[in-house]
Amino acid sequence: MGGIFGTISQKDCVNDLFYGTDYNSHLGTKRAGMVTFDKERGFTRSIHSLERSYFRTKFEDELSSFCGKQGLGVISDTDPQPIIVNSHLGRYAVVTVAKINNLTDIADELLQQRMHLSELSANTLNQTELVALLINMGNSFVEGINHVFRRIEGSCSMLVLTEDGIIAARDFLGRTPLVIGRKEGAYAVSSESSSFPNLEYDTVRDVGAGEIVQIQADGINVLQKPFKRRQICSFLWVYYGFPTSTYEGINVEETRERNGKMMGQEDDTPADFVCGIPDSGVGMAVGYAQGHGIPYRRAVLKYTPTWPRSFTPSNQAHRNLVAKMKLIPNKAFLKGQRVVFCDDSIVRGTQLRDNVRTFFDAGAKEVHVRISCPPLVYGCPYIGFTSQKSDMELITRRIIKKFEGDAGKNLNKYATTDSPEYQRMVDEITRELGLTTLRFAKLETLVRSIGLPKCDLCTHCFDGSSYCHEHDNDKA
Ligand code: SF4
Repeated sequence: MGGIFGTISQKDCVNDLFYGTDYNSHLGTKRAGMVTFDKERGFTRSIHSLERSYFRTKFEDELSSFCGKQGLGVISDTDPQPIIVNSHLGRYAVVTVAKINNLTDIADELLQQRMHLSELSANTLNQTELVALLINMGNSFVEGINHVFRRIEGSCSMLVLTEDGIIAARDFLGRTPLVIGRKEGAYAVSSESSSFPNLEYDTVRDVGAGEIVQIQADGINVLQKPFKRRQICSFLWVYYGFPTSTYEGINVEETRERNGKMMGQEDDTPADFVCGIPDSGVGMAVGYAQGHGIPYRRAVLKYTPTWPRSFTPSNQAHRNLVAKMKLIPNKAFLKGQRVVFCDDSIVRGTQLRDNVRTFFDAGAKEVHVRISCPPLVYGCPYIGFTSQKSDMELITRRIIKKFEGDAGKNLNKYATTDSPEYQRMVDEITRELGLTTLRFAKLETLVRSIGLPKCDLCTHCFDGSSYCHEHDNDKA
């Protein structure tokens, strides 16, 4: 997905920019960048690869080269950013959280019009540069950003650093978040509100779907009101979001606990205790323990001293090895026990299968798995939440292909909780992963735990429901 952070202050902003961007590190694994603007020195920018190291390690030594009262930072899962542009709108820098599915089509069209794309450092089209080109086609930033919204298929939230403040524009359907924070003499805007407390910002509000605001050190100016429709990614509360973050006034960890509690209340499976698979299964497991009335115990722990975050090597076999090595089971708790393990989701199933073997090897008598969302039957066309290149990497699709001879057949039946096809698919996943029992959250449970109307949420990867014409979003 990726995360972005911007800050503007009456004083130097570099410290807040550095730590605020770092607090988005769990959202991306490929590249990171920072840019500051100073009236005398202009723009200062740096971009580094994150594939072998972490944001703080990469940027700490060069912090003294940045200066200014306003800046942007980005943790990118795709292209090198920020992009700095000299245009008829003035000089500006831009960072995005975006997935542009028609990138090549738009680029071809612009090249035909004799425009050029120069950022080829990653040997591929840079979608943030394309966003900048589309912005430049407007007579103002607002017109240009709406041009981006109209042209792209996918999603795009962005921050633009101008000589006159920061412009924040959230995706036209609000799929990815942007939250504004304030402290005396400064504002910040971030993909994650968890960036704010340690930097002493208080959350002011979310930027609305399609809303465009200009942020200066002393206030916020709404340049475009939010659109009526929104389709906020429900997976933010399941997996992406940092537990202390709050989107739309709804806290991530509270949502996970509510979800787990509802699942625990509905579940009569006898068990000795429940354990969350770190990190994103923990909140659900705490709620499940309350709902089911059994203890919560930490029977598996993440080895944090050298595996501090979801480090994601590009090679799948290496990813599986990393996933296995960073979790250590506690044999003293598992021996002879019937254990419920809670996890956020099952994508390919390979990591969970390895974990389950480890739990049995450590002496567990029964391994019951509870998942905080429904099975992922459809790939994500909007934010690219997994690195899967095709839907066939989803365990559900592999099984559907095995049953139907066609991975795309009867998907709606497999996505319908408790249908015979759904049950058969879940039974097969249970068998393949070697589990004692397996249950997924119902979509209604997930939606109720978030607390927003279903029509305000994107649930496409669970039920294929969120295809809509993306460019018919009227202004409020
Ligand atoms: S398809 Fe799934 S992961 Fe993608 S935006 Fe929708 S809910 Fe989020």
